[in-house]
Amino acid sequence: DRYVFDFAEGNKELKDLLGGKGANLAEMTRLALPVPPGFTIATTACREYLATGDVPAGLDDEIGEHLSRLERVMGRTLGDPDDPLLVSVRSGGKFSMPGMMETILDIGLNDRSVHGLAKRSGDDHFAWDSYRRLLQMYARTVLEVPDELLQAALAPQYAEWDVTTPEELPAAAIERACGALQGVIAEYSGCPFPQDPREQLDLAIRAVFRSWSTPRATLYRRQEHIPDDLGTAVTVMAMVFGNRGADSGTGVAFTRDPASGAVGVYGDYLQDAQGEDVVAGVRNTFPLAALESIDPDSYARLLSAMSTLERHYRDLCDVEFTIERGRLWILQTRVGKRTPAAAFTIATQLVDEGLITLDEALLRVNGSQLGKLMFPRFDRGHDVPVLARGVAASPGAAVGAAAFDSVAAQRLASSGQRVILVRRETNPDDLPGMVASIGILTTRGGKTSHAAVVARGMGKTCVCGVDTLQVDPLARRAVASDGTVIEEGDLLSLDGLAGLVYRGEVPVVPSPVVEYFESGAVPEGADDLVHAVDRVLRHADKRRSLEVHANADTPDDAARARRFGAEGIGLCRTEHMFLGERRALVEQLILAEGPAAQQAALDRLLPLQRDDFAGIFRAMDGQPVTIRLIDPPLHEFLPDLTELSVRTALDEAAGRVAKETTRLLGAVRRMHENNPMLGLRGVRLGIVIPGLFALQTRAIAEAAALVAAEGLTVRPEIMVPLVASEQEMTFVRRELEQVLTEVAAETGRDLAARIGTMIEVPRAALDAGPIARTADFFSFGTNDLTQLTWAFSRDDVEASFFPRYLDAGVFAVSPFESIDRIGVGRLVELAVAEGRAANPDLVIGVCGEHGGDPDSIGFFAAAGLDYVSCSPFRIPVARLEAGRAAV
Ligand code: PEP
Ligand code: MG
Repeated sequence: DRYVFDFAEGNKELKDLLGGKGANLAEMTRLALPVPPGFTIATTACREYLATGDVPAGLDDEIGEHLSRLERVMGRTLGDPDDPLLVSVRSGGKFSMPGMMETILDIGLNDRSVHGLAKRSGDDHFAWDSYRRLLQMYARTVLEVPDELLQAALAPQYAEWDVTTPEELPAAAIERACGALQGVIAEYSGCPFPQDPREQLDLAIRAVFRSWSTPRATLYRRQEHIPDDLGTAVTVMAMVFGNRGADSGTGVAFTRDPASGAVGVYGDYLQDAQGEDVVAGVRNTFPLAALESIDPDSYARLLSAMSTLERHYRDLCDVEFTIERGRLWILQTRVGKRTPAAAFTIATQLVDEGLITLDEALLRVNGSQLGKLMFPRFDRGHDVPVLARGVAASPGAAVGAAAFDSVAAQRLASSGQRVILVRRETNPDDLPGMVASIGILTTRGGKTSHAAVVARGMGKTCVCGVDTLQVDPLARRAVASDGTVIEEGDLLSLDGLAGLVYRGEVPVVPSPVVEYFESGAVPEGADDLVHAVDRVLRHADKRRSLEVHANADTPDDAARARRFGAEGIGLCRTEHMFLGERRALVEQLILAEGPAAQQAALDRLLPLQRDDFAGIFRAMDGQPVTIRLIDPPLHEFLPDLTELSVRTALDEAAGRVAKETTRLLGAVRRMHENNPMLGLRGVRLGIVIPGLFALQTRAIAEAAALVAAEGLTVRPEIMVPLVASEQEMTFVRRELEQVLTEVAAETGRDLAARIGTMIEVPRAALDAGPIARTADFFSFGTNDLTQLTWAFSRDDVEASFFPRYLDAGVFAVSPFESIDRIGVGRLVELAVAEGRAANPDLVIGVCGEHGGDPDSIGFFAAAGLDYVSCSPFRIPVARLEAGRAAV
């Protein structure tokens, strides 16, 4: 088994083995782009190291062979005292985890070779500053020396020269700082800094392997759903230097704007600086365009390399590059992260440019991105004055309380507040605070700073480089240039699209995409985005076989669902139709003594229900409407037991005659259940309370006849909830069919209403064959099916122990949010197979929350369902995902 591969040996398909960075470096090497030579140690070696605590046998020899080859190519040996070859050691897993793992630069410097480097480069300052960087990174990464100790070692030199960064020190002072850093290293670890370059290299590689398991890397993976067992590859590359004066520098570039998708060259450049300085956001950068006047040759070469990459990868790429004394080097590339809006616009641009097909465009976007584009944004007409301006780093409209560190952000968030994290810059230690916040504001750094990259990845609003704001994290406050003070907890509004910061709350309006769905008109200024979304969605509609229906209970919701593209109503819940002033009628029905009183109550409810359904049928002219008969435990329509007991007791004490309340109390007591969700509800009500289901069925049939008489096409479907056995279904079906026959005779219209059942009790899935013989359709109620399969109370667990389960990695995601394929999914597959075998005409859908979950829709398509049903706002998401599932 081999573990080490020269860049020239790999290619971009080998991400599992070489990590994203290693695979792309190999690809660029094959494309003859200017990549410094080097080699990659495979993820398999890291996995073995993590499992056994040691690198695999033979790895060190293999590294030795590749190192010798690198030395031959470079004509220098690692750490040679007179003319040292230096290398960088970088992490790089299969999936990009920006800034989460470690990098060590300048390996090969020691007390002797630093002089060689100084002599060869003719630059003492450069040589000693490189050594200083190596010592600092080695201490932090290999030995995990706390940063305070390292800063304390540098502090005397800062004080003496009155500077705040090491680069500003003269060479002799940096040399003394190096001595101090070596002192800290020896004291902290009990061993001196290793002078043997090969030992430095081996320790650095092991430290990078270990950095896979740091808490911040683990948290990041959990956030991004990256598996924990992949491990990282390590690239070892000949160093090139951006910190060798004004003709050197380092930068990050994108082939298109990762925030809007606009075509062009975007990025940041920092003169006389080394790799991490840009990403760390510690110095304010130039826009990339400035490079054109600084170094036109390198600029032209960079543009040509970027265009090669974009055509080769057929997608937006970003690169990290370094210019050393006028010579361009590309250190890394990848298919770049982008905002949801940019994902859509770039995908359609690439179609227009002939680089990809519409099918591919569909795979370049996803439902969760579309969902984010449907969030509201700030009202353009508001009059809140702008407090400060910065770089529009990640779009969105975020209003929240200011927090000045990660701990405060988590505390405010756990007290239920929306939080804006305000920092000078962020580093990976701020991750928990970023997770807890809805928006991030930094005062330094550009579009490629840590804050910007991470926020975009998480879909959070971010404005960075707000340099007119002075942040004092210790005093927990920020001061704007006009003297306005922001204290912890004060409300801020962040416009991530325009890069603006407001004090207080800016009113929010719907997203342009939603406005377009609602009105069919393209809102001003949103043409590119709306057209891109529309085009991709239309293609999804053409491709998909899965229909998309809506969960809607009112004519307004039904109409909106249609505007969003619904092809029917998959779930109309009827319980809310018994609330409000109608509650009294339900109370009378429940308390009725004798059939006459009962009929009177039913007679008063009937016309109300008929009107409810008629409105929905009108809105859904021509499309199926699935109405679910009443589902919740009946006592939900009666007063609360405790409250009523108190009221009755008070009445009695006051000597008031309390005949009504006493009777009511008796009924409430009779109906009280300890476990109402497992009690008298759903189909059980229909069997126990005579006339209830018949009333609803009559209302449906009469409404259908009425609307059909108006000339519209009505397709009613009646759905029975909580069925667990064939016998229940047979019992209820007989009653419903009788009502339908009566109404057909009375109105002269037989509307052939279909009768089906929900599959939301595990037993129903297990007995799907026999049940399918008495049902025209199935609709999976995956909310209850999840609750009952896992024995998780859907009303309680998310607030009680799910956070712990998610933390502990028992779930990657709540099974109420994304379908549990192993358990609940298996019941779905079983019920589909046995249901269809027993009744080939059976129509099957899903109407639980999972029907609108982007990560579950592919599963339902693969399981052979006919439709998913979800809330109106998720319909476009479901259309898109159903299309993606068909490609
Ligand atoms: C379900 O259980 O999935 C369902 C759609 O019904 P409800 O959420 O109303 O219980
Ligand atoms: Mg249910």
